[in-house]
Amino acid sequence: MNIKDPVEKLPLVGPTFAKRLGKLKIESIEDLINHLPFRYDDFSLISPIGKVQPGETVTVKGTIEQISNEYTKNGKKIQKAVISDSSGKIEVIWFNQPFLARTIKKGSLYNLSGKIEWFGRQKVLLSPEYEQLRGETGIHTGRLVPVYPETYGISSKWLRSRIKTALEYFKDSVEEFLPPDLVSKEGLLSEKEAVSEIHFPKNKESALKARHRLCFDELFLIQLAALLRKKEWQEKTVGKAFIIDEEKINDFILSLPFKLTSAQERVVGEILKDLRKAQPMNRLLQGDVGSGKTVVAAVAVLAAYLNGYSSLIMAPTEILANQHFKTLSQYLKPLGIEVRLVTGSRKMKAAGENPEVVVGTHSLLFQDFDPKKIGLVVIDEQHRFGVEQRSVLAGKGVSPHFLTMTATPIPRTIALTLFGDLDLSVIDELPLGRIKVKTWVVPKQKRQDAYSWIKKRVKDTKEQAFIICPLIEESESLASVKAVNKEYEILSKEVFPDLKIGLLHGRIKPKEKEEVLTKFREGEYDLLLSTPVVEVGIDIPNATIMLIEAAERFGLAQLHQLRGRVGRNNMESFCLLFTENEVLPVLRRLKTMEQTNIGMELAEIDLKLRGPGEVYGTRQHGFPDLKVASFADFGLIEKTRKAAEEVALKKLEPPLQSRLKNYKIDSVTN
Ligand code: ADP
Ligand code: MG
Repeated sequence: MNIKDPVEKLPLVGPTFAKRLGKLKIESIEDLINHLPFRYDDFSLISPIGKVQPGETVTVKGTIEQISNEYTKNGKKIQKAVISDSSGKIEVIWFNQPFLARTIKKGSLYNLSGKIEWFGRQKVLLSPEYEQLRGETGIHTGRLVPVYPETYGISSKWLRSRIKTALEYFKDSVEEFLPPDLVSKEGLLSEKEAVSEIHFPKNKESALKARHRLCFDELFLIQLAALLRKKEWQEKTVGKAFIIDEEKINDFILSLPFKLTSAQERVVGEILKDLRKAQPMNRLLQGDVGSGKTVVAAVAVLAAYLNGYSSLIMAPTEILANQHFKTLSQYLKPLGIEVRLVTGSRKMKAAGENPEVVVGTHSLLFQDFDPKKIGLVVIDEQHRFGVEQRSVLAGKGVSPHFLTMTATPIPRTIALTLFGDLDLSVIDELPLGRIKVKTWVVPKQKRQDAYSWIKKRVKDTKEQAFIICPLIEESESLASVKAVNKEYEILSKEVFPDLKIGLLHGRIKPKEKEEVLTKFREGEYDLLLSTPVVEVGIDIPNATIMLIEAAERFGLAQLHQLRGRVGRNNMESFCLLFTENEVLPVLRRLKTMEQTNIGMELAEIDLKLRGPGEVYGTRQHGFPDLKVASFADFGLIEKTRKAAEEVALKKLEPPLQSRLKNYKIDSVTN
């Protein structure tokens, strides 16, 4: 038997249990061992029966004198037993578990763990855990007892006994993978000890030490994997280092209709510094919606062009590709740089002699182009953060400079761990004069008022509004399309019969989408109803109202990004968060949107409330979610980062190498 074997191979785990375990994402024996307790019941106080006191949680060890089912006055079944040792005896009561009268054997030695309570005028042991003693120590009683995440048909008691068996089998196959000097310097338990102690700890201190070791491992491995990815990337070369023609770049910046913010200037500096190197840049540019990332990208594109290289710009959707195409053309055409749009409908034609700028979606990567001409790849708003794109291009034999842009704020702990292979630049300043978008959470009973307000506002000002339909699933499924169609009916017939409403969702053909957007931009529609996954990046200066349905289904950072679609033109703007949910924590979470317009703060709150998988969509992309450690544990993240940096410099021993395999990111296959 091997630790990677299916869990079914373990004694007493048949196909039925294996299937149930699947619900807990436990497939292999290793998964079972990695299924960790979230707390312990403290049954470590072992007391002579004669000494127990009401209110105490204790373990008693004695002989079952009798056990039987009885009926209470109101007809409920209870189980009554008596257990005794040399110091005395006590009555034991369970409720509604008639099978116990058969399972627990009269005359045998048992451990019972639970709370001593008054029952009428009698001291009893109430609903204790029970365990017939075979070895010296129990696993369900008389100790710190692990309590696990459970599922239908899988109790903690069952998990305990199967994990105990698994640990017996594999005690000696756990191979230490951390360098020994690191283990001793940090005073860590060995991995073997940690795994066994986290399930069945000797005492509280050792449970904590076990958890500490496993947290250390997790954060260390994630960061080491990221650092090695970074190192591997840095060993590649772009071809040649760019020469930066500062005069031409400055002329370009001076020709812009606005002055760069100092944050933009700083970030431009960081990028140009990277481009001067022969190692490819791998930089993540984070900046709130409207902070002006595009123009920064344009500077990098210009630098590539001046060095004889083409640039690829990738957007998540065709509409956004279109928008980038327009903006970049505005910036770059005057300099004589050709900008081309390549989308599903507009295919790449053989490139000309001169370097150029090609804008498109993710599918650009799979077009036929001369990889050697590509000096820069810019990726906008794709939460894969370029990992896959890099591997595709590397597969074609090129490693251009990479600039990934995102409006999703990246807290420092996430930057270090999940995105530890990227260098981070932040535009933490909005262009001058931007005003705060007024935000309200709109509960059920204010819905009609809000609709009337929108009606009046749109008529009076001729400004426009976005209405975002609830997020139903991550991808644009038929269910989402159905929901948005239904909403369209209601809005156009009942709520806003006098207003013109455009409709947009992922299943509409690109050409139609384009038409809808053009009409909205030109004011032919007053309102635009859209699903959330599409077109979060569209730029409609005259839109000043953002209404989000079922706002509680979104993360705060996501709401913040949607909100950033309005208030782009320094016009007074509004964001209305509709919710039918009246649960206090939900409302409180949404209310933070009223109070803060700082993306990073909202992201930190999100991270605490929902975890990184939800916020950064990392799970689908092969990034592991944290199992034991926490992104809030900044101290340990720093410490493991340092350890990983040192280890990354040396040759990796095979046990460590094989451990890192779980942290590899798969490349795209389409
Ligand atoms: P995002 O970071 O959301 O991609 P954009 O690059 O689309 O932001 O910029 C948003 C708007 O702000 C654009 O209309 C752009 O022309 C404008 N803009 C960018 N930088 C500045 C600046 N420094 N001063 C004033 N306006 C700016
Ligand atoms: Mg943008």
